[in-house]
Amino acid sequence: MFRKILIANRGEIAVRLLRACREMGIGAVAVFSEADRVALHVRLASEAYAIGPAPSSESYLRIDRLMEVAKRAGCDALHPGYGFLAENPALARACAKHGVTFIGPSPEAMERLGSKTGARQLARQAGVQAVPGTLEPIASLQAARAAAEEAGYPIVLKAVSGGGGKGMRLVSTEKELAGAWRDAQSEAENAFGDGRLYLEKYLVAPRHIEIQVFGDIHGHMVYLGERECSVQRRHQKVIEEAPSPVMDAALRSRMGEAAVKLARVGGYTNAGTVEFLVDAQRNFYFLEVNTRLQVEHPVTEMVTGLDLVKLQIRVAAGEPLPFAQADVAMRGHAMECRIYAEDPGNNFFPSPGKIQTQRTPAGPGIRLDEGVYAGWTVPNDYDPLLAKLIAFGSDRDEAAARMRSALAEYFIGGIETNLEMFRRIFNHPDFLRAELHTRWLDEWLARGALGTTREESKAEDAAAIAVALWQLSQSSQAAMAPGNAAPPADGSRWKRAAIQEQVDRAPRK
Ligand code: ADP
Repeated sequence: MFRKILIANRGEIAVRLLRACREMGIGAVAVFSEADRVALHVRLASEAYAIGPAPSSESYLRIDRLMEVAKRAGCDALHPGYGFLAENPALARACAKHGVTFIGPSPEAMERLGSKTGARQLARQAGVQAVPGTLEPIASLQAARAAAEEAGYPIVLKAVSGGGGKGMRLVSTEKELAGAWRDAQSEAENAFGDGRLYLEKYLVAPRHIEIQVFGDIHGHMVYLGERECSVQRRHQKVIEEAPSPVMDAALRSRMGEAAVKLARVGGYTNAGTVEFLVDAQRNFYFLEVNTRLQVEHPVTEMVTGLDLVKLQIRVAAGEPLPFAQADVAMRGHAMECRIYAEDPGNNFFPSPGKIQTQRTPAGPGIRLDEGVYAGWTVPNDYDPLLAKLIAFGSDRDEAAARMRSALAEYFIGGIETNLEMFRRIFNHPDFLRAELHTRWLDEWLARGALGTTREESKAEDAAAIAVALWQLSQSSQAAMAPGNAAPPADGSRWKRAAIQEQVDRAPRK
């Protein structure tokens, strides 16, 4: 087993990885940029090294600096987490060159499956139906026009090296194609240094269901059930759950076997995710492979009872998978909310800043994978994910009820967050009946789910603040009782935050 693992990441995932190392009795080394000097992952690590200024291009994306730290600290393995360099074969190669084990797939498998068009070709080879579209990058706008004609509008242009929705454009009619082509190309070039595009038919109102696969270096490959991630905002996941409410045993084994087949053809090892879109008739179409640990891995952990990070470490160290497909059993239901520092009143614009105060939820079945603390200033240099709130229950209703209760307890003051959006989603009949598709949340938000305009919500806030102030004046005695928040003592931001909390809870239409 490894002696010391370099955690090449930050935020909640760095904390998650540190905990796994600690449990296994393996040393862990954190790295940090200037913006993260007192970040939670640094505070929790017994050893941490500075790797450069705040911009990720000068710190978390610097392979040379990571290799220097690995050498200096005597690390024999590296875990990349997700994002940053996690899917960059150059990091895996640099690790190999420096005698450090990369905890993930081989760089070759990453290349084969990480390219979206490459993965689509492998899917064909494996006999797995992909979303209809081109298998190769498209050479010119003219070629795109012909391919779109063949697939039939609406289509979606996508970056070959894409991820995070970048370089992706929905095109409803031929008229929009030229503009979308230009935009997608330059966005992809900027984000990935690769402007190549391909296209897919745009499926109307599908569900996003993905399969967790796991392979060891001895040729064993299993699937660990599915996660449904259909609650998305602008094609980015917001809530994930396991199992999928529309899954049955037959579909699970068909999708699971398809995912394993594709991973095998790609020579894949370690943890990976094969994503599918599923239509109303429950036909499934391969979308892409994520060659790393996913943000939403905790929901799989809750229902399978497995620790995926520890499993990744064991498999990377050369151990065989300690179970076979027939041993994988799922129990209960888990859901995850991605808690972001962003302002729903301002088009979900990132809202970094100082967390003045926070109260985190607890209780049966509640897990919080968090990367922040009260007093920490969320930097504006990175993805503003603060925490992932996970609820487990014996069935979907119990998991949802526990999530609702945890969301009511959760309070983050000083910055804007998307907590209130989740409180509303977990009271929405469509969501509770699991009548969902990937555009469901966008459509609901467009109908004004969070107040149609800023002015309108300001007026509502003013009314709610008046009510809250009145309640505060009426109940300061009661508020002093143990278990209740103490009344604000001065006109500080803390006080405004406390009032805002009440505003947040005041019922709105
Ligand atoms: P990225 O890797 O950039 O996140 P994906 O290919 O994983 O992009 O797609 C992200 C989301 O975009 C999907 O979950 C789905 O909601 C939507 N999407 C992508 N391709 C299609 C398609 N062909 N038809 C309908 N929706 C799509």
